Amino acid sequence: MAAAICSSGSTGAGSGTSRAVVCGAGVIGSCTAYFLGKRGVKVTVVDSCGVATAASGKAGGFLALDWCDGSPVGNLARASFALHRQLADELGGETNYGYRRLDALSVTVKEPTGTAGAGASASLPSWIDGAIRKSSSIGSQATTAQVHPQLFTRTVMSRAESDFGAEFLKGTVREIRVDPETAQVSGVVVDDKFVEAETVVIALGPWCGKLKLVTDLTSISGLKAHSIILQPREGRDISPHALFLSFTSREGETMDPEVYPRPTGEVYVCGMSEHVELPPDADHVEPKAEAMDMLKRVAGAVSSQLDGCQVKAQQACFLPLSVDGVPLIGKLPHAAGVYLATGHSCWGILNAPATGASLAELIVESHSTTVDLKPFDPARFLTAEKGRRKFL
Ligand SMILES: Cc1cc2nc3c(=O)[nH]c(=O)nc-3n(C[C@H](O)[C@H](O)[C@H](O)COP(=O)(O)OP(=O)(O)OC[C@H]3O[C@@H](n4cnc5c(N)ncnc54)[C@H](O)[C@@H]3O)c2cc1C
Repeated sequence: MAAAICSSGSTGAGSGTSRAVVCGAGVIGSCTAYFLGKRGVKVTVVDSCGVATAASGKAGGFLALDWCDGSPVGNLARASFALHRQLADELGGETNYGYRRLDALSVTVKEPTGTAGAGASASLPSWIDGAIRKSSSIGSQATTAQVHPQLFTRTVMSRAESDFGAEFLKGTVREIRVDPETAQVSGVVVDDKFVEAETVVIALGPWCGKLKLVTDLTSISGLKAHSIILQPREGRDISPHALFLSFTSREGETMDPEVYPRPTGEVYVCGMSEHVELPPDADHVEPKAEAMDMLKRVAGAVSSQLDGCQVKAQQACFLPLSVDGVPLIGKLPHAAGVYLATGHSCWGILNAPATGASLAELIVESHSTTVDLKPFDPARFLTAEKGRRKFL
């Protein structure tokens, strides 16, 4: 094992037991804890707000086999899509977190100016009976699937705890401490306590960009996006079709919202992104009223069954973005024992399993076979100038 794990300190977490500290209990941190646990590493997962309270609890949960092909993320996505299938078997995904295959459609919708929509088209499922201009199939049950992201993340984390002895610690990571002489990590400052560790994984989503150890190397930002969860009236038959919309509002505004029916009978609708400042933590992310209203209009324009139905949740969250659009998964070049896993943008739910599995391999065996992590190496941001100034 490349990184020996030492006991945590005054938090009482696993006293006397070897442990790694994973910072962040989103989908990336939880999957990393699960796969580290499978490899015999005892993990403490730290989160200031709880498990899956940020984007990982508010995402759509759409999974695609080949939509990232041709990009640096292609292999990670293919490996993750397969791992999602395996995990669904291992963790009871169909029952516990709504894993299922589904179809995907591209649909062009123009919001009507009057009251009536266009009516159902013979080629579309009957619930898609709104002002549809055009539609085409873009994914089948062979290549597209979904999970309920919050339930998926919470299931993975609770199995890391029950099966592999992972521990959850509620608290805010203030600093990752690195010995200035040896550049070896010594632990994590959580609130006012020091948790000793020889291995630390930073998986704080967009909040990775608030840690000095990360900003010394690169910047991580967040893009805010909104979503609503609708509960159609009882007895409505909403088929498993994910909809990727090109939507034009009656004022002529264009946007690309997404609509995901869930096995629970709920329908999730998301869109309306904006660049705004990242709040201090996930509990302080507030949805904007105008965005909520627009998403309800989108739903109503797509389907009479979604028009005016009960709204179960109105929410917002932040996508984690890297500078070059490619996730960062791997060792920090300037701090021995510290690993980074973030920047998954709009594909974090899909790509979490292979991220966690590969990172666990890298930590335990010094190399990853699930996916080649070279394209994601954080060291790509280590410029000669940074190397001279900060790390040498
Ligand atoms: C509207 C929307 C829809 C999406 N739909 C999909 C989809 O259909 N499919 C898909 O694959 N992806 C989707 N995504 C993307 C996906 O949600 C993200 O890529 C993924 O959730 C990122 O996970 P994460 O674990 O990196 O970050 P997060 O989920 O943001 O988790 C980070 C965690 O770190 C914690 N934290 C932050 N700072 C601290 C600190 N200092 N101390 C302790 N804890 C801290 C937070 O509380 C949080 O729990 C969507 C995203 C959005 C916004």
